[in-house]
Amino acid sequence: MTDTCPTCLKPGIEPALERRRGNRTRHGYQCPRCSQQWITERLDAAYDDRQDAA
Ligand SMILES: [Zn+2]
Repeated sequence: MTDTCPTCLKPGIEPALERRRGNRTRHGYQCPRCSQQWITERLDAAYDDRQDAA
């Protein structure tokens, strides 16, 4: 899943690394334009909770 650089707002950056821990997935990014690094963490369970949400 691509992300947008929080510093220079360059879109569509591919994750440089992916780590899973339980039901969470962390993606590490590095911007090719300004070299900014950041990590995005997502909950995989969000896709499985539709029954509870409804
Ligand atoms: Zn950037």
